[in-house]
Amino acid sequence: MTMTLPEATRASFEDFPVSGKVRKAVADQGWEIPTPIQELAIPALLDGEDVVGLAQTGSGKTAAFAIPLIEAMDPKVRGIQALVIVPTRELASQAATELKSLSRYNPVHPVVLCGGTSIKPQINALRGRSTRVAVGTPGRILDHLQRGTLRLGSVKYLVLDEADRMLDMGFAPDVGRILSHTPDGRQTALFSATMPKEIRGIVKCHMRSPRWLSVESDAPTVDTVEQVYYRVVGRDKTNALRTIIDGEENPLALVFRRTKHGATKLHRQLERQGYKVGLLHGGKSQSQRTKALAAFDGGRTRILVATNVAARGLDIPDVSHVINYDLPEDADTYVHRIGRTARAGKAGVAATLIGDAEVKEFDKIKRSLPVKVREVKLPA
Ligand code: AMP
Repeated sequence: MTMTLPEATRASFEDFPVSGKVRKAVADQGWEIPTPIQELAIPALLDGEDVVGLAQTGSGKTAAFAIPLIEAMDPKVRGIQALVIVPTRELASQAATELKSLSRYNPVHPVVLCGGTSIKPQINALRGRSTRVAVGTPGRILDHLQRGTLRLGSVKYLVLDEADRMLDMGFAPDVGRILSHTPDGRQTALFSATMPKEIRGIVKCHMRSPRWLSVESDAPTVDTVEQVYYRVVGRDKTNALRTIIDGEENPLALVFRRTKHGATKLHRQLERQGYKVGLLHGGKSQSQRTKALAAFDGGRTRILVATNVAARGLDIPDVSHVINYDLPEDADTYVHRIGRTARAGKAGVAATLIGDAEVKEFDKIKRSLPVKVREVKLPA
């Protein structure tokens, strides 16, 4: 049976039975609420279960497998205790970076095993006493196995990340070979954005009655969101924002900035100009966040200035406008941000303010969207 989770029942990181060190590292990241896949996968993996997670990039799946991985490491055991197999070098270094930061108070010292770079430093790192985790792509992992520089006899925690991409890239036989070097009794977690038949085959062959976890898609129904952009010449985005908001009868606008500092500054500016405005970012305490959300939800503040923290999960039905004051980092973030409007079948507007320096970056985002984003001129 597949378990899914509605957004509304989000827990807190405090609810997980994890060590103080990991808890502290999570707090350092500025994360307060687990993402849906984290909420489902972390307890199951901490319990020692095998897990198949249907999750996309951006869902927080890396931390979902990294936190239980760190907790599973035994400082007294020598050798590689956890192996994370990923399709690309970029993903390997991202996963290693996240493992490093989440284990900063009890380091697991991940080594990255990927092609395209010299194998020597990898061999040295594998010889190191403290190296407990290997993160790599199938080709280079196999290379190390064949050279005898990597032994997987002590692996008790194995992760197959973006399994569907690994299949697409033709890595299935390599993955099978690598798995045959690991102990049968290991715990296995597999994450994939899609679940083609071949993945079910891998699960059947290599996993022990896993828990199937999936989270409801957070993607907006784009057809009910009117997507527009405004070219803002010079640096006067705050004026542009005011013009858009003042032109609406009764707007409830969620305004995104990239940084806490930027959000705080804009919040202050709008407040001074007499707007009823709230502020939401990762630096705020849980009670401040709850208060800001309740005021916005109840319509007592008509504008909420937020960082990406608010882009996921937030479900306030009457949001009429999502305004990208700063450009989102990528198309995925764009889609998640604009999904905060037009909830539950209502109409909504997503407006992006494009400064002179952001034209190229926005073109890139626009190209990967399934719909056309229309340019609107700001009234004089
Ligand atoms: P991933 O899907 O693992 O690539 O993660 C996407 C991004 O979300 C990464 O930049 C993580 O650092 C970030 N992230 C992971 N978990 C959380 C969380 N609970 N709250 C906020 N951000 C998170």
